[in-house]
Amino acid sequence: RASAGPGYLAGLNPEQRQAVETLDGPVLVLAGAGTGKTRVLTTRIAHILATGKARPGQILAVTFTNKAAREMRQRIGALIGESVEGMPWLGTFHSIGVKILRRHAELVGLKRDFTILDTDDQIRLLKQILQAEDIDEKRWPARQLAAHIDAWKNRGLTPDKVPQGDAHAFAGRGDELYKAYQARLKILNAVDFGDLLLETIRLFRDNPDVLADYHDRFRYMLVDEYQDTNVAQYLWLRLLAQGSRNLCCVGDDDQSIYGWRGADVDNILRFEKDFPGAVVIRLERNYRSTTHILEAASHLIAHNEGRLGKTLRSEGETGEKLTVTCAWDSEEEARLIGERIERLQRAGESLDDMAILVRASFQMREFEDRFITLGLPYRVIGGPRFYERAEIRDAIAYFRATVQPADDLAFERIINTPRRGLGDTTIRVIHDVARARGIPMMQAAVALTESEELKPRARAALRDILACFARWRGQLDLLPHAELAALILEESGYTDMWQKDRSPDAPGRLENLKELLRSMEEFESMTGFLEHIALVMDAESDDTGEKVSLMTLHAAKGLEFGTVFLPGWEEGLFPHQRSLDENGRAGLEEERRLAYVGITRAKRRAELYFATNRRIHGLWQSTIASRFLDELPERNVEVIDTGSLRTSQASQGWSRFDDRAPFANSYATPGWQRAQRNRGRADPRGGPERRGPRMIEGEILARSSGPPSAFAVGERVFHQKFGYGRVAAVDGNKLTVDFETSGPKRVLDSFVERH
Ligand code: ATP
Ligand code: MG
Repeated sequence: RASAGPGYLAGLNPEQRQAVETLDGPVLVLAGAGTGKTRVLTTRIAHILATGKARPGQILAVTFTNKAAREMRQRIGALIGESVEGMPWLGTFHSIGVKILRRHAELVGLKRDFTILDTDDQIRLLKQILQAEDIDEKRWPARQLAAHIDAWKNRGLTPDKVPQGDAHAFAGRGDELYKAYQARLKILNAVDFGDLLLETIRLFRDNPDVLADYHDRFRYMLVDEYQDTNVAQYLWLRLLAQGSRNLCCVGDDDQSIYGWRGADVDNILRFEKDFPGAVVIRLERNYRSTTHILEAASHLIAHNEGRLGKTLRSEGETGEKLTVTCAWDSEEEARLIGERIERLQRAGESLDDMAILVRASFQMREFEDRFITLGLPYRVIGGPRFYERAEIRDAIAYFRATVQPADDLAFERIINTPRRGLGDTTIRVIHDVARARGIPMMQAAVALTESEELKPRARAALRDILACFARWRGQLDLLPHAELAALILEESGYTDMWQKDRSPDAPGRLENLKELLRSMEEFESMTGFLEHIALVMDAESDDTGEKVSLMTLHAAKGLEFGTVFLPGWEEGLFPHQRSLDENGRAGLEEERRLAYVGITRAKRRAELYFATNRRIHGLWQSTIASRFLDELPERNVEVIDTGSLRTSQASQGWSRFDDRAPFANSYATPGWQRAQRNRGRADPRGGPERRGPRMIEGEILARSSGPPSAFAVGERVFHQKFGYGRVAAVDGNKLTVDFETSGPKRVLDSFVERH
């Protein structure tokens, strides 16, 4: 209270206050998690408004998500005691970009009402271009080209700027196709996401008067989460900031987690070069987390090499140690966390103050199912719920259309996904026939394969897919449902579609599909599973009341919660194998930053979990605890023994990296014996311990798209459901097996064992 000045400045520490009050000239706030960077930005805007330095419409403020923008708007309102409806330029790079572009569309050859293409539209357009250019789409998938173009756009590269090496990326014609794509976009009066910035940059460069106008307008510019800007965003900012030069960016190099999407942490280093005389302010007091949490996170991130380096100290209490809990498998992990949440809730803590942060979106499935069983309200932040993801809905539509041929919605959803030449015209004809005769679409489609109403090509495509559905339906009572489901996704070409996809989210979607198939095994039948799905989909809606938050670590940036649960700390999942494979050391460091982001979301309590058995790529595997667990200092961590510890490789691997690891000595504890006793009990379903069916079924997912079958005609095999038989024919990884008791059947080779 001693500090002079308006109320909103009270309580800021001297460095924060400097960052708020240094309004003129470039300012870079470089500081660790929870040091008040976002609070500084918010207060700075309040300060600008309150002192009359600028009107709301003269402030440009960039946040990482729309949600963050909404929150910032609210907080500013609270600080200055009036609502700030009129901050038109507070938003994400994209939302601000689109606004600018609409105002000057004509100047870049667009009409004001231009459309913004989503990824699907983008792919469709690229396919047309590839066809026109006679490029074999099988070898050179459109999605791969889309990924190249996105990456170029993130780097601020127009077609003429694509470097030589890159230009050869796609059948040696990358830059040329990129140019053709841009030309098509213009004709269609459309832009893609990347263009929202790139076209604005071009607009500014080609029209100095327009740029001058914005220089006049934007008296103050502010950017949150600056470490995650990409080159295009940086160029865009730099152009705009040349006017007032009143640019304030806040960021933390240790929280740069979007490298895979083109974010470039070097932008932090460029800042001082491009804006000479910039004031660099460091904030060192963390107001968010307890000492234990902060020490653990700082110690962890210190393992990274490429750091700018900063000091962080806690303003809070010592608090509770982090806990590390070992679960048997992901189901037990979800159950343990569910129990913890209920216990905390009974102790009076709010669900709103708890979050579960996962590394990969497929991990959400187990938690969502668990919460629905418990009746625990939850929300998913930063993305759809698991069962609402496009790939999951598609898969389920396939299953529904198989079980229930009259399900028009399901049929319509997937009839041309993946694309098989059944476009809008065909669908309309099917629709018309269905309505005219009062029959389901699938039945109408069958009728249409016999008539001349459709072009021969569409008719053939339709006949193919209908034959598939008929075959799958015939197998409903013959094949185990999870096996049939895998077969459907494979034979329909759906899995393949995502496998060919080169966009950054495609591998995650494949993981989600695998998780879906895995979860199906928990049900008796396909119908049972679909009923469950219907319930799950119904469970949402209610928007009021407290809820646990569930999200990926990526989506958790900038947020904070009293209690944070961090499941899945295992090698291969976290750090994620893909990051390690694709980017080596740099990939590992980005994973570690993600771990740092995760832990530093917690105010009072951080609970880490790992499962000793997990299905990775469809196989039950004993896991190895994440190396990040080893990198936490012993003094900040408490190990919770649930009996699953020490029963697998997980704990053995645990002390590999650091002999001061907190768990190095824990083998000798009484828990070991208890764990041994619990072994049989720990997994009531049999689970990974039980070799046999689970093991075998699991393999399908790993191999369903894999190499041709290793089985040969004539070999004797064993199938869990059908018993013994002899291979009669091999078609890729599908076998026709003449079973001794049930006759010939088509099965996936991964479901049978050689005998
Ligand atoms: P991140 O790097 O995670 O985005 P941040 O640096 O943006 O973190 P904030 O979210 O702004 O940090 O602040 C973290 C928490 O500390 C918030 O709850 C905020 O209200 C509080 N806080 C910040 N500064 C102060 C202060 N001077 N006094 C008391 N609390 C503060
Ligand atoms: Mg922040």
